[in-house]
Amino acid sequence: LTNDQLSQWDRENFFHPSTHLAQHARGESPSRIVTGGDGVFIEDRDGNRLLDGFAGLYCVNVGYGRTEIQDAIAAQARELAYYHAYVGHGTEASITLSKMVLDRAPSNMSKVYFGLGGSDANETNIKLVWYYNNILGRPEKKKIISRWRGYHGSGLMTGSLTGLAGFHKKFDLPLSQVKHTTAPDYFRRDDLNQTEAQFVAHCVSELEALIEREGADTIAAFIGEPVLGTGGLVPPPAGYWEAIQKVLKRHDILMIADEVVTGFGRLGTMFGSDHYGIEADIITIAKGLTSAYAPLSGSIISDKVWKVLEQGTDENGPIGHGWTYSAHPIGAAAGVANLNLIDSMDLVDNAGKMGAYFNKAMADAVGGHAHVGDVRGEGLLCAVEFVEDKSDRTFYDSSKKIGPQLAAALLKRNVIARAMPQGDIIGFAPPLCLSKTEADSIVLSMADSIKEVLG
Ligand code: PLP
Repeated sequence: LTNDQLSQWDRENFFHPSTHLAQHARGESPSRIVTGGDGVFIEDRDGNRLLDGFAGLYCVNVGYGRTEIQDAIAAQARELAYYHAYVGHGTEASITLSKMVLDRAPSNMSKVYFGLGGSDANETNIKLVWYYNNILGRPEKKKIISRWRGYHGSGLMTGSLTGLAGFHKKFDLPLSQVKHTTAPDYFRRDDLNQTEAQFVAHCVSELEALIEREGADTIAAFIGEPVLGTGGLVPPPAGYWEAIQKVLKRHDILMIADEVVTGFGRLGTMFGSDHYGIEADIITIAKGLTSAYAPLSGSIISDKVWKVLEQGTDENGPIGHGWTYSAHPIGAAAGVANLNLIDSMDLVDNAGKMGAYFNKAMADAVGGHAHVGDVRGEGLLCAVEFVEDKSDRTFYDSSKKIGPQLAAALLKRNVIARAMPQGDIIGFAPPLCLSKTEADSIVLSMADSIKEVLG
């Protein structure tokens, strides 16, 4: 098929995720036909070789073209592509993976429930939390607190948990059981005179006020990403998680750590919870579980939650929750090979060391620019935030599209970055196998792109 033919069929037939409908109507949605990849690079049909500074959607953590995972998938497909995992059935891959996940998870974790993607895993989590409170005889304790700018998926419940207006507008969301609290973004604090500690105290008092308003006996859980991801790649201010968890414990509110991005090494620790001392009751995993070689997600459930769920014996039958593709054998085989590769390539360690190098190199190279307000990151997450005026941190008018212009300038230099949906923020989340030379090349391209777009 020619590129022209594919482009025509694409426009005529394919409703892509996150389609910009106005651009589509204007005929402005060209397709890149991606054909291959190795390490941190992808290739397209036009012969371009691009350094993928965002690892797909921060998910191809081991890098592209890993034969170990490809071979495991092929072997599983030949042996048995599918059988369901409903109770009483399993495959060697799914059972092995459940043990490998628990071996790597924080020590208070007890079981893993497999799904397909991060959104459905978070749907599972909320249903389990509700089930948990029903067993405990407190069916009114059901509300979930999330943060503005948190990202937890785009279903009806998970789109509600997500604290970004675009996921609510025109969908009648958020659902009434979801309440949002302040995003822990110190750079974007309202009161520029606040110290980091004062800002943490402010986040805590906002949370306490929300709990007070709603009533602790109506709130089941708090969900948060260890590092705010899609909402702007924002590491929390020092002491944030410790302070938030104290409040949650006091009010008997469960903590769901959404580790879809941070799970399996991105911050230089196996989980973001290890990094920040988060004692989660449930952990969401997806992306890095298989490095996206096949769809698979999971809800890791703590002893505390499992001990209650276990009492949910219902004479009418099994728990009313399960997907046809839960623990899909091909996803599970990819997961086993992927976790082995993360170990054998020492990628958790590389993410920590290379992340520190990359973040420093980025800050050194672009931090002094008149329109760079903030350079921040943790592990192999890095964000550069742009401001019209550095002194008062004024946002650029969104019509100027500074973020998208910078992402386009980077693309001209064969580097893929993400213009984050929240303001003018360029995000990087490269594969965890990033080398120093590749890190340098991203930084150089970023400095050149800033010069081109902003002078
Ligand atoms: N949670 C977080 C933190 C995410 O970043 C994402 C996706 O980016 C999701 C959940 C949703 O995952 P999925 O797109 O696989 O449904």
